[in-house]
Amino acid sequence: MRVACQLRGSQALLLGLLLAGLACAIRNARAGQADRTGRHLAIVSSHRLNVGGAELQVDFAAGPLDLSPDEVVHWIENAAHSVTVYYGRFPIARQRILVVPVEGEKGIVQGTSWGDMDGFPGFTRIRLGQHTTAKDMSEDWVITHELVHMAFPSLPDDQHWMEEGLATYIEPVARVQAGNLQAKQIWRDMMDGMPKGEPGPDDRGMDRTHTWGKTYWGGALFCLTADVEIRKQTGNRKGLQDALRAIVAAGGTIDKDWPLQQALEIGDRATGTKVLVTLDSEWSMAPVRVDLDRLWSDLGVSRDGTGIAFDPKAPLAKIRESITAQDPELNGNPRPARVP
Ligand SMILES: [Zn+2]
Repeated sequence: MRVACQLRGSQALLLGLLLAGLACAIRNARAGQADRTGRHLAIVSSHRLNVGGAELQVDFAAGPLDLSPDEVVHWIENAAHSVTVYYGRFPIARQRILVVPVEGEKGIVQGTSWGDMDGFPGFTRIRLGQHTTAKDMSEDWVITHELVHMAFPSLPDDQHWMEEGLATYIEPVARVQAGNLQAKQIWRDMMDGMPKGEPGPDDRGMDRTHTWGKTYWGGALFCLTADVEIRKQTGNRKGLQDALRAIVAAGGTIDKDWPLQQALEIGDRATGTKVLVTLDSEWSMAPVRVDLDRLWSDLGVSRDGTGIAFDPKAPLAKIRESITAQDPELNGNPRPARVP
């Protein structure tokens, strides 16, 4: 049983990762240790959702909330739908989500996820501010980030960067693919955030540099680099998404403890490349700097005032478009109807 992630923040999108004073930890829950999951809290209402072939149980602990339980459940369903669109199905069969109201606060205060808890392959606790609004929830990234954690095996501590990097990179891509976010917003956030993942003077590689910037943005930069490279090598027929779907299909989910290599080899087989294993061998034990200016230029992304402009004639413009392309069928998973 592992803590996969612990976040603090209520800001929209990846910007929240920058501002939120985020804390993240993997630790094993040992016998005799005080339970800090909240999973034994008394439940005042319980709701069941079926999304992407999975059953999600949403439980509310006691406490004041301005929003109705139905509104909160809809927000969770929408996040689960984004994850389902990205992965083709919801990655685990059953998940419990515990909503804990926090009196006097506004916004999503914290999300934390564990694998293999009380018979559920995944368990997520969301600490939700009493005065959270529907707008706060429509802009929220935390729950989608937490649900993305379901879709990768739990890794040794030194590879925690891969768990957080994936969740950081995939969360907005999944929301764009599901129609919940504009593509320009995530490229702007990546231009702002990815430099924080570049190596500093004391960098010793991803597995040996456990700073906040390397863990979240360094991990996300690895994922973006891998996605672009897979698409370059396959004529844009395959991407990181294909690799990640294959890892889930092989049983690589949060309730399993795997070495990273095992997951990467499965991902590479799915794309017919060696991109993930090769990049990991280069990045894990030595600092690697990405020429971000060149990458944005090749992808056809530039700043335009406070926004972003796309250049459709840039050499990798098609790759950029493919990364966030909406599946016309939404993989057979229609968007959930809005709760009145
Ligand atoms: Zn996380």
